[in-house]
Amino acid sequence: MIKIRRNPDLGTIVAVLACDHCGQEITHAGKALYHWRMQEGEPVEDSLRIYHKRPCSDVIERGERVVGQQPAGRFYWSELSTLPGLLVTATNFSWVQLIHDCPDEQLDQVLIALQARIAQRDSQE
Ligand SMILES: [Zn+2]
Repeated sequence: MIKIRRNPDLGTIVAVLACDHCGQEITHAGKALYHWRMQEGEPVEDSLRIYHKRPCSDVIERGERVVGQQPAGRFYWSELSTLPGLLVTATNFSWVQLIHDCPDEQLDQVLIALQARIAQRDSQE
C-alpha cells in the first residue's frame, strides 16, 4: 500500500510504501516484493500487494498456496525493485525528470548505470 505521512527530519510530507501484511513502512526495496494473481492468463486487476520479504511474505505465501488452488487464480511475485520502473513507464512519467530529481548522493551511480546501459544499447546496434 502507499501511505502519506510527515517526515519529521525533513519537515515535509512524503509518500511511502508499506507492507500489506504488517502495515510497517518498507525502507529497503531489496527486502520487499510484490505479489499478484493471474487468472486464465490475465492479471487480476486489484490483486497487487506489497510485502516485506520474510517473515511477512512467508505468511502470505502459505495462505496463497491454498487460495491458488481455487478459482481466485494463480499466485505470482517479483522483486519490489522492478515495480517503480513499470509504474514510471505505464504512467508516461519522464525518466529524464526522475533522474533530474535524483538525490545528489546517487547521481554518480546513476551516471555509471546510464553509461553501462548506453554501451549495452550501442553493442546491440
Ligand atoms: Zn511486513
